[in-house]
Amino acid sequence: MSDVDGTVDVNLVLRSTRVVTPEGTRAATVAVAHGRIAAVGPYDAEVPAGARLEDFGDDALLPGLVDTHVHVNDPGRTAWEGFWTATRAAAAGGITTLLDMPLNSLPPTTTVGHLRTKQDVARPKAHVDTGFWGGAIPDNVKDLRPLHDAGVFGFKCFLSPSGVEEFPELDQEQLARSMAEIAGFGGLLIVHAEDPHHLASAPQRSGPKYADFLASRPRDAENTAVEGLIAHAERLNARVHVLHLSSSDALPLIAAARRRGVAVSVESCPHFLTLTAEEVPDGATEFKCCPPIREAANQDLLWQGLADGVIDCIVSDHSPCTTDLKTPDFASAWGGISSLQLGLPAIWTEARKRGHTLDDVVRWMSFAPAKLAGLSDKGAIEAGRDADFAVLAPDATFTVDPAELHHRNQVTAYAGKTLHGVVRSTWLRGERIVENGNVAEPTGRLLERNN
Ligand SMILES: [Zn+2]
Repeated sequence: MSDVDGTVDVNLVLRSTRVVTPEGTRAATVAVAHGRIAAVGPYDAEVPAGARLEDFGDDALLPGLVDTHVHVNDPGRTAWEGFWTATRAAAAGGITTLLDMPLNSLPPTTTVGHLRTKQDVARPKAHVDTGFWGGAIPDNVKDLRPLHDAGVFGFKCFLSPSGVEEFPELDQEQLARSMAEIAGFGGLLIVHAEDPHHLASAPQRSGPKYADFLASRPRDAENTAVEGLIAHAERLNARVHVLHLSSSDALPLIAAARRRGVAVSVESCPHFLTLTAEEVPDGATEFKCCPPIREAANQDLLWQGLADGVIDCIVSDHSPCTTDLKTPDFASAWGGISSLQLGLPAIWTEARKRGHTLDDVVRWMSFAPAKLAGLSDKGAIEAGRDADFAVLAPDATFTVDPAELHHRNQVTAYAGKTLHGVVRSTWLRGERIVENGNVAEPTGRLLERNN
């Protein structure tokens, strides 16, 4: 459909001089009927009788962002985060779909019963559409297919200790067994790829110095884990995804594997792409995460990986905790960076400096994550998809004030940064859920895998 068609119950028409579509950014109107995009038409298309027009002027109309890497921690560690606060922060940041990670909540999402518990907790609190990853741990191979059938989007595993005892890592033999099981039903395995032996032999020094922490999580740990993961995936003909890549050294391995036909995809995160090891102050453990934020030269190569199309997605890995766990000792502080509400402006600020466009940002933060999860209704402004949008003032700036963040513990590595890109409003299935920072009551739905 290329015209705004008045015959399909259009109740809403959105107009902007900058609509970011899969064919590029252009002046256009977007007609919405029954919560879905009915058509993307010319800028001056006639508004059907009875439909409301929202004209955003020069603010950009983006598809709602899809964040496939969020630790909501609910139920069980709700002092750290919860579905109410996390999904409010997501909505305020232009995210309309999030997928929750299987760990840090109690119970972890490792059985169908646990999944149902989490869904029941999330249902009344979800301000955005919310789905779930399952977990692959050493003793739950028998639970993987039932979880797949129950609608999880794939399975997360660790190769090194996860930080919580109820979610143990897989050794190489267990990895192969779980991967074979998942490949057998066409599922997706997503992996925290740091090799435990490299971590164990790295120098471990406690204290407030970031350089000591960085030395304890060397690039080799990531590179070796990625290499091993690719070898298993190639042998088992499995589909795997590398979570939160920080070491740019692994990019050639991944690119070469893809050329051989291995089904491996990769994500990176706003903190790896916008913050550098060089700028982390002593004791500033709000910058601690695993794998770690590395040097500026590494960051440049990650951006090259995005430009080359080796890195598919940018997702938050929002992983908060209570403020008391962010002690000034890098060795003992909880690892995790909170950025759910800030990912879009953080990435846009850096992307525009590096000559990228909003089309690129939308591909990395909406289209590709939706594709990774098989969310064919999400991730693009085109007829037939859900009417999920973020309205962004790309040239406006703001300074990050932790008090204005909606996530539960207002700790953030971005405090005081001035960023480009203000989210003016967020729309979920044709309804405005955020306007100028005010978030409406929850109307998010729980999502299950549909492929
Ligand atoms: Zn994570």
